[in-house]
Amino acid sequence: MPGSFKTEAVVLRSIRYAEADRILHLYSADHGRLGAVAKGARRLRSRLGGRLEPMARVNLVLHKGRGELCTVTSADTVHAHPALRERRAALERGVQACEGVLRLLDSAEPNPAAYNLLCHQLGLLDSDPEAATRARALAFRAKLLLAAGFAPELASCATCGEQEHLTGFSPAAGGVACSSCEAGSFPFGADAHAFLVGSLAHPLSEAPEAPDRALAQADRALGETLEHHAHVRLPRVAA
Ligand SMILES: [Zn+2]
Repeated sequence: MPGSFKTEAVVLRSIRYAEADRILHLYSADHGRLGAVAKGARRLRSRLGGRLEPMARVNLVLHKGRGELCTVTSADTVHAHPALRERRAALERGVQACEGVLRLLDSAEPNPAAYNLLCHQLGLLDSDPEAATRARALAFRAKLLLAAGFAPELASCATCGEQEHLTGFSPAAGGVACSSCEAGSFPFGADAHAFLVGSLAHPLSEAPEAPDRALAQADRALGETLEHHAHVRLPRVAA
């Protein structure tokens, strides 16, 4: 689709390029993943550059030529998330959220659930200093897996369908495991199970809390499900 088009997008990553340009990895509302060049963005007085920092949410006009990368024609800020950038914990969680989208969603198909989730997480990290918790970051990751089509099976044993005695988690089977199907599973406590169910059932701002041991099990369940089924390895969500 050569020519110019508009879309809203979040800057996931920005890489220096040539003398004064930046290459941007974007996640857009209407075209999924996009790559773009922002010409002259590293010049001192570039207005474009100031609006295209990582984690910025922007309205863009892009030009698509024959190459892989679009060219940024104009950029207007929807939300710059300035407070997020001033708090180390929020900044790290914001980078983590962008990294998850970068690794997991590489299609040019729009995914409104994933786009809205990312915008929601960045907005919460910006507005609420209490939002930069491990539990919230894991709830975001659980929802991101759901949006990407890799949510683990939590309602019944992923192997046999049993709904009671769910004591393990099997990454290969892609969900919880009952006591008869526990080969290849790791121990998965009721609190870790409840945390993931609650994370998927509630908006991000109402995501549940859980003890650290439960969060570590939930983290492992999400991470190993991705490794088995999406062949994507994400860094674990640190405390
Ligand atoms: Zn079973």
